Amino acid sequence: MNMITNHMPTAELQALDAAHHMHPFTSGTELAAKGARVITRASGVTLTDSEGNEMLDAMAGLWCVNLGYGRDELAEAAARQMKELPYYNTFFQTTHVPAIALSSKLAELTPHDLNNVFFAGSGSEANDTNIRLVRTYWAEKGQPEKKIIISRKNAYHGSSVGSASLGGMQPMHAHGGLPIEDIHHIDEPNWYAQGGDMSPAEFGLERARQLEAAIEEYGAHRVAAFIGEPIQGAGGVIIPPETYWPEIQRICDKHNILLIADEVITGFGRTGKWFGCETLGIRPHIMTIAKGLSSGYAPIGGSLLCDEVAQVMNDCDFAHGYTYSGHPVACAVALENLRILQEEKIVDRAGSEVAPYLKEKWDTLNDHPLVGETALCGLMGSLALSPDPSSRAMFAADKGTAGLICREHCFANGLVMRHVGDRMVISPPLVITHAEIDTLVERARKALDLTHAELK
Ligand code: PLP
Repeated sequence: MNMITNHMPTAELQALDAAHHMHPFTSGTELAAKGARVITRASGVTLTDSEGNEMLDAMAGLWCVNLGYGRDELAEAAARQMKELPYYNTFFQTTHVPAIALSSKLAELTPHDLNNVFFAGSGSEANDTNIRLVRTYWAEKGQPEKKIIISRKNAYHGSSVGSASLGGMQPMHAHGGLPIEDIHHIDEPNWYAQGGDMSPAEFGLERARQLEAAIEEYGAHRVAAFIGEPIQGAGGVIIPPETYWPEIQRICDKHNILLIADEVITGFGRTGKWFGCETLGIRPHIMTIAKGLSSGYAPIGGSLLCDEVAQVMNDCDFAHGYTYSGHPVACAVALENLRILQEEKIVDRAGSEVAPYLKEKWDTLNDHPLVGETALCGLMGSLALSPDPSSRAMFAADKGTAGLICREHCFANGLVMRHVGDRMVISPPLVITHAEIDTLVERARKALDLTHAELK
C-alpha cells in the first residue's frame, strides 16, 4: 500500500477512512455516503481541512484545546520526555518525575484540599475510578451497603460502561443495557426547557430537592455519592439557576453523601476561573478532570480527592489502576500546558477580558428571530433555538434545526459549532482574540440567517 499522507486527494482519504475506520458517535452509512471532513492542520483557533478550507474552531476540538492549537512547547515537552523515559508505570510502589510534578502542580491549582490525584487516561476512565472509589470508601468506613450513586438525566460523564451509566443520555443507555446497578438519575436543572411558570430560583430549588427526595426514598445509608457537571456541557451548556448548587451542597452535607464534581469540561479556565467549582461555589469531595488538563495534546484524566477521602483510600489496598495511569509523556505535556496557562495568565485573562467581551457579543444574537435564549458562563455558551422565542417553545424534534445550522451553514461559513437537540453550543480556545470573537459571532449570525430564510 502507498504511504497515506495529507497530500492525497480528499476523496481517496475519505474512501479509505470509510472502509476501515469506525468513528465515535457517527453513522457508518452517512460516513460512507458523504465522507468525513479531513482535518490536516491547526493553529491558534483555526483548523485547516484537506481542501485548504480554514475554519474557526468554536468548540476547541471537543471542549478541550483550552490553550489553542500549535504550541511548540508542548510538542517539545513530549519529545524530551519520550527520549528520557517514554513509559513506566506507577503501579506497585514506583513513580517518576512527571507524575510527581503534575500531582504537586494540581494540588497547588485546585481549590481547598483536593490535594490527591489518581491518574487515568481519559474522563471516562476517571469516572469509572470514581464509581469503584466511592463504593470502596464507604465499605472501608464500615458501610458496604452505601453504594448508590445519584446523577442527572441528560448528564454526560463518558462512554465506558460505568461512566455512560453515570451519564443520563437515553440513546447511550439503549446500547448495551445500561445503566449498571445502583445508579439512579434525577431531573436536570434546565429551566429554559423545563421550568414552566416557575422562576429560575424556584426551579433551581425544586430540581435540587429531587436529590433529597431520592436520598429519602433509597435511604441515606444506601447512597454513596451524587455526581454532576457544574455546568452540563455535552447536554447543551445548561447553566443551572443560582439556587441549584448551594442546595445540592446542603443536601449532600446533611445526608453525608460524597459530592463529585465532574470538571472534565469546566476545569482549567473554561468558566473564567481555574475550576467551575470556584465559579459556582461548590465544595466537592472528588473532582473529575481531563480535556483541558493537557489541552487535548495528550490523553490524560484523573480523579482529585479531598484529604479525608484520600486518607481512607490510602489506608486500604485499592485494587484499581490503568496501564497509562500517570503516563510520563502525558504528564509532561499536561505540566507544560498548565505552566503556559498560568505563566501567560491565559486563565486569568479568560475570566477578566475574554469572557466579558464574548458575553457582550454573544448576547447580541438574542435579537435573532430563531434565538430563544443566549446562555454563557466564561467561555462555554449556547443558543436555544425556538420557532417562537417569546414563549420558550421548542422546534419539533424531527426538524433538527440546530443540526441543520451547524452541519450545513456553520461549516460552509468557516465556523465549527456543535448542536445538542435545539441548542447550538460553543466552547472556544481560551486564547481567542476579540477580533476572532467578532468573526465567530458574525458567522453564527449568518448561519442563523440562512436557516431562517430556508424555514420560511
Ligand atoms: N465528563 C464530562 C463532563 C465530559 O464532557 C466528558 C467528555 O466529553 C467525559 C466525562 C468523558 O471524557 P473522555 O471523553 O475523555 O472519556
